Amino acid sequence: MDLLRLGLNGKKALPRMWRAPDLKDRYEVVIVGGGVHGLATAYYLARDHGITDVAVLEKSYIGAGGSGRNTTIIRSNYLTPEGVRFYDESVRLYEQLTQDLNFNLMFSQRGHMTLAHNDSAVRTMRWRAEVNQLQGVDSRLITPDEIVKLCPELDLSDHPRFPILAALYHPPGGVIRHDAVVWGYARGADRHGVHIHQKTEVTGIDVAGGKVVGVRTNRGAIKTGTVLNATAGWATLISDMAGVRLPIVTHPLQACVSEPLKPFLNVVIVSGSLHVYISQSDRGELVMGAGIDPYPSYSMDSTLGFLELLPCLARVKIMRQWAGLCDMTPDFSPIMGFTPVEGFLVDVGWGTYGFKAGPVSGKRMAELIATRRTPDLIAPFRLSRFEEGRLVGEKGAASVGQ
Ligand SMILES: Cc1cc2nc3c(=O)[nH]c(=O)nc-3n(C[C@H](O)[C@H](O)[C@H](O)COP(=O)(O)OP(=O)(O)OC[C@H]3O[C@@H](n4cnc5c(N)ncnc54)[C@H](O)[C@@H]3O)c2cc1C
Repeated sequence: MDLLRLGLNGKKALPRMWRAPDLKDRYEVVIVGGGVHGLATAYYLARDHGITDVAVLEKSYIGAGGSGRNTTIIRSNYLTPEGVRFYDESVRLYEQLTQDLNFNLMFSQRGHMTLAHNDSAVRTMRWRAEVNQLQGVDSRLITPDEIVKLCPELDLSDHPRFPILAALYHPPGGVIRHDAVVWGYARGADRHGVHIHQKTEVTGIDVAGGKVVGVRTNRGAIKTGTVLNATAGWATLISDMAGVRLPIVTHPLQACVSEPLKPFLNVVIVSGSLHVYISQSDRGELVMGAGIDPYPSYSMDSTLGFLELLPCLARVKIMRQWAGLCDMTPDFSPIMGFTPVEGFLVDVGWGTYGFKAGPVSGKRMAELIATRRTPDLIAPFRLSRFEEGRLVGEKGAASVGQ
């Protein structure tokens, strides 16, 4: 409707999505990182809790990190009850988000299918289906006769190198337009009074008497009592500035898209054994990815060594490929909440799977900041779980399939 109104009014330029305000020398809350997590937290802080004196500091442009580089898969068919409950709330928020933000996010719940190529994978899929169903999530084990209906192009013959014995099918899973999610949250936060500062790099965090008192940036110092580290692949660099050590190692993750093809793939397909996944975008491009590169690095160069294709795609041309940084934790679950430094909070450890969690972690981290109480839903993901020995092991469901 806005577009139609603008067209009829004869205006040439669309209004700016968000302002470029002056950087103040004091904010109630400073969020480091202009990805989906930082922006969603800012949005819910302002909308749900009336905390609008918030700055989002982004060293590059918003969405420059994983939020603009991911392969857009949304799902909640995880392995642990804690994980399933958490990601399920995010899927539900995503279902309402286009309306909430009044911005078309092109969320397509086309179904997500994880293939099992051997008996142990079938056992894990059955286990995941049981856990999912107990949490009320639509997810079940399906056999080749159903798989072939969902994707006739899959090689289900009796002599493939990786036979397909079964699959975990998750109908609510799907894909979304990642840039739109970032822009929608940024516009929503801005309209509620949040300041978004691009090209603003945090270079230091000031701590006095065990409390955060400010941050330093390339554009000057800011006083604040609350800093949220939402920098994903750069998370340890920011936490080190506050003297907080995180059990996180940064690895590159690569992906690519093919030339556009006629629509033929109406489900997201994942193979844990082959470490690959594939979906088809609305423009017809095949979006493909793999597991993390096995070496720690801050490089975002591509190597192309990760490509694995369906047999029928052997002659399809690759159009673009890229990489992003993933902040991997030992248990493949995120770290959210308080740290030993008062006022220094983290929303990190998003690895290869954090885009889908943007809405729920934004909403719950905003609640934590506003109330200073940890919501039950995110309590299992506290930093102290590593010294308590209470890990939330999601490797079996989070490593590929994003
Ligand atoms: C190739 C690839 C595919 C993926 N596919 C999926 C998927 O299908 N589904 C899914 O759920 N997840 C996926 N992920 C993971 C997902 O993209 C990330 O977990 C998620 O986007 C993290 O969001 P974020 O907001 O926490 O961080 P980011 O989006 O990475 O934002 C962090 C921001 O912090 C900024 N920053 C860093 N240092 C500073 C500083 N000193 N000062 C100011 N700003 C700073 C960075 O510039 C960056 O913009 C994928 C990741 C990659 C790389």
